[in-house]
Amino acid sequence: MRRKRVAVFGSTGSIGRATLDVIGRMPYRFEVRALAAHSSTRSLLQQARRHRPAKVAFADRSAYERARRAGRFKTELCWGLDSLMDIAASPAVDIVVMAMSGTMGVLPVIAALEKGKRVAIATKEILVGFGRHVKTCARRSGAELLPIDSELSALFQCLDGRDIDSVKRVILTASGGPFWRKGIPARATVKQVLRHPTWSMGDKTTVDSATMMNKGLEVIETSRLLGLGPDRIDAFIHPQSIVHSLVEFADGSVLAQMSEPDMRLPIQYCLTYPERRPSPARSLRFAGMPSLEFFPLNRRRFPCYSLARKALESGHGAPCVLNAANQVAVDAFLAGQIAFEDIPAIIRATLRQYPTEGTSRSRPPSLSALLRTEARATETAARLVEASRSRAGGRS
Ligand code: MG
Repeated sequence: MRRKRVAVFGSTGSIGRATLDVIGRMPYRFEVRALAAHSSTRSLLQQARRHRPAKVAFADRSAYERARRAGRFKTELCWGLDSLMDIAASPAVDIVVMAMSGTMGVLPVIAALEKGKRVAIATKEILVGFGRHVKTCARRSGAELLPIDSELSALFQCLDGRDIDSVKRVILTASGGPFWRKGIPARATVKQVLRHPTWSMGDKTTVDSATMMNKGLEVIETSRLLGLGPDRIDAFIHPQSIVHSLVEFADGSVLAQMSEPDMRLPIQYCLTYPERRPSPARSLRFAGMPSLEFFPLNRRRFPCYSLARKALESGHGAPCVLNAANQVAVDAFLAGQIAFEDIPAIIRATLRQYPTEGTSRSRPPSLSALLRTEARATETAARLVEASRSRAGGRS
């Protein structure tokens, strides 16, 4: 069997590194054809030395310049969105793994899907903002769009090709993040927020986990990927992170997918699907396992979750606005510019500025209209961050 050639976008992040670990364990089945990252020059070059891809791409030009100065490589170096799209569409690539943070990967994903390739997608922001287009694109070309996100992978594994009409509802599980048990502390610091109890993830996702926006984004992601309305998507807190999500079928039977929390499992499943192969994930030990608990998600305590559900209900453009505003707000929080509780306030205020854009009554916005909406929402949210900073500055 010919080895499958994989392009890993976002290879220096936690999902990207786990992907390279999985590929490295199956050298007879997979080879790394291309690596791409935003700007982590040194880690990307280290990965290139180890995996010897034909191409290495940087989103950021100065990172690319630094890499060029770092020495001579057999690997071709390139930079920019066009290079990312070329790699995604290249006939020399069979599988695209998209794990770049933010929505920069949307056009590369579409380019790969248009060529009928398998795309394993970890970046939920792409599905939240542009899910309908991405899905349509996959349907038209017959490309496979497989989810890496652990909850989505769980649903995908439980459904196992069954008709979505046989599903009564799906249930996403949430670890609860650092604040679920004790409540959100006043003036939560970046350090407190980044202390996640069960998963080790990138900073953006960890903050989203603390605000519970992560679950909100996953509700939208699920709706876009499976074509389910919000009324058929539930979420529960499950602090043990062992049941990764559940599907309840029309007859009341519920299937759950369980495993130790290890992202290498869903990543590998996307690569080898429909086959199942031995994986580095530890077997579940049932003797001595903690009780598996499920608790309702308190929407008042986690306004970001409610905002996401509302955005999904109000229609096509709103999730894109929500996602853009959240990205800006989380970046600002991580940079110490705003307080933790300002995150939902900024998202809410940004959503208010686009009350009718792309509502469900009007025609779904085109991809270019959505990209413009995203850019405008990003600007609006950035202005709101500035305003909140100067207010805070005035107070102190
Ligand atoms: Mg997840």
